[in-house]
Amino acid sequence: MSGQGSKRVAVVAGDGIGPEVVESALEVLTAAGVHLDLVRLEVGLGRWKRTGEALGDEDLDTIKQCDCILFGAITTPPDPGYRSVLLRLRRALDLYANIRPFQSSDLDFIIVRENTEGLYSGREEVGEEESRTTRVITRRGSERIAEAACDLAAKRRLLTIIHKSNVLKSDWLFLQTCREVAERRGIPCEDMLVDAAAYNLVTNPRKFDVMVTTNLFGDILSDEAAGVIGSLGLCASANIGESHALFEPIHGSAPDIAGKGIANPIGAIRSAAMMMEWLGDARAAGRIEAAVRRALATGARTPDLGGSCRTADVTGAVVGCLMAEQSEEPPVPEKDVQKREMQFG
Ligand code: ATP
Repeated sequence: MSGQGSKRVAVVAGDGIGPEVVESALEVLTAAGVHLDLVRLEVGLGRWKRTGEALGDEDLDTIKQCDCILFGAITTPPDPGYRSVLLRLRRALDLYANIRPFQSSDLDFIIVRENTEGLYSGREEVGEEESRTTRVITRRGSERIAEAACDLAAKRRLLTIIHKSNVLKSDWLFLQTCREVAERRGIPCEDMLVDAAAYNLVTNPRKFDVMVTTNLFGDILSDEAAGVIGSLGLCASANIGESHALFEPIHGSAPDIAGKGIANPIGAIRSAAMMMEWLGDARAAGRIEAAVRRALATGARTPDLGGSCRTADVTGAVVGCLMAEQSEEPPVPEKDVQKREMQFG
């Protein structure tokens, strides 16, 4: 970690749309007047293809010297010889708490996903006739993720523990430990089976406030939540450990739209805002989030949201809203002005 002065941020733009959305996030940070010492690293599938290595030990050392990581997305090919970069980083830096806020004009809830164990324990045996993955739940892992969720719930209204303890005996430990932590912390708490939670997320999402769950359940419910909000492209996340943190949009590298200039950059921009909050600049974080909301309200929308803006248009609209912070009339991307005039004019 760096000491005084500018914070050092490792920038891992990655593959597919990763570099496109990370550049948008950096542009917005600059417009917000943030000064960071950026350390750009070439990590991911592109480098693996070129050199046979996606992430080197020297990169990990460099990353450990930085305050945090701003991450785009990395393609994980279905090749047994390829080790997932994100899983390696989460494990090497012990980034145990994956915090995923979901916000829209009428929804506001957070999924807190345990990030280091569960079915992503890495303990796997692959055979011709039978394969096994060990689902690991520990008291320590459950306790620390419950504490992280309670930190958030303490400023909100309710903690919901999501589990499958009626079938998975390992989830008893998770459920009981989370309940104990919530009780000790005085946090209002309920619990729900994961299948019921999946249903309620679609039918009654306002029910939820802070949800805490195990690794795979959190992974799946997050994508469902993104669909409920409107698009994967809108959603940000923080991966937090004791001394390191990584900030990334929750979407992947989206190879189907890479290079087309139409990726939604909002998830990456919101991830940069979460990063600024973690770095101690809550004012910059708040300004960026407010600019995102204003830009969306003016109709700055990429095709995943039914709009016709390009990545650069949406980025420009957020930058414009930051610049015109005091003004009543934030700039509207030209294309969508025409569209709105057609709709409402
Ligand atoms: P990966 O293998 O890297 O996980 P993927 O395509 O399997 O890539 P995602 O990248 O999460 O998974 O994409 C899922 C779908 O959502 C794709 O159709 C993609 O185009 C769309 N999508 C994801 N992110 C965005 C974004 N930022 N803007 C617009 N569409 C997106």
